[in-house]
Amino acid sequence: MYTPGMAEPIIVAQDVQKHFGSFQALRGVSMSVQPGEVVVVIGPSGSGKSTFIRTINALDPHDGGSIVVDGIPLDGARNLDAIRREVGMVFQSFNLFPHLTVLENVTLAPTRVRKTGKAEADKRALELLRRVGIEEQAHKYPAQLSGGQQQRVAIARALAMDPKVMLFDEPTSALDPEMIKEVLDVMKELARSGMTMLVVTHEMGFAREVADRILFFDQGNIVEDTTPEAFYNNPQHERAKAFLSKIL
Ligand code: ADP
Ligand code: MG
Repeated sequence: MYTPGMAEPIIVAQDVQKHFGSFQALRGVSMSVQPGEVVVVIGPSGSGKSTFIRTINALDPHDGGSIVVDGIPLDGARNLDAIRREVGMVFQSFNLFPHLTVLENVTLAPTRVRKTGKAEADKRALELLRRVGIEEQAHKYPAQLSGGQQQRVAIARALAMDPKVMLFDEPTSALDPEMIKEVLDVMKELARSGMTMLVVTHEMGFAREVADRILFFDQGNIVEDTTPEAFYNNPQHERAKAFLSKIL
């Protein structure tokens, strides 16, 4: 977990803007994340949560303001490879390669991008698959696994690149209820291990237990940036109050 006042921020976003045509999806978002911090992002559908975390590993380029990740400025096409090595991403829809086995999904980027040898990549992948509790499925294909298992493979795949930051966009939203816990448990272990995490989720139990901070998005901006206790017990913004009254 994060210890206040110790380090330089690992993510700094300042006045980040993003347009889709004439529509402005991000309206000057500013925030920073300290190493080891777990930040949960919540807010209504369409408020810009996905767009914001996609700008942090440049899946979507921002078109105003600045983003710096671990000292690397994210501008234009420069530094894209460097950023993507630093930042792992896990999506709602798993996005595994269907024609590759679990093990091949996890070793693909290390062998292609980092040029890690196959034996070493396999060894490390098996360690990660053990960490997410799924080592025995290593030689299966994604379609042979449950959704919860596929999402745990996706987490192992992201970790295989040794990222400094992990981004999650509603990682349990596509899962049946009985599978949500197994994925959240892996994420909790990752948080406890000191990983810096930015997590879009509406899982309140996870947020209360694991988050150091909550960011509440509304209409393309952060309208609350506070602790879980303050957010859940005493939200300041009208939209946050309305949102909480619907989901609690
Ligand atoms: P959230 O994740 O909070 O539900 P998004 O970041 O996905 O919201 O979307 C924010 C706004 O930007 C929405 O109004 C959405 O319709 C719009 N938007 C997102 N992606 C695109 C895109 N590729 N093209 C056009 N509009 C988009
Ligand atoms: Mg979204």
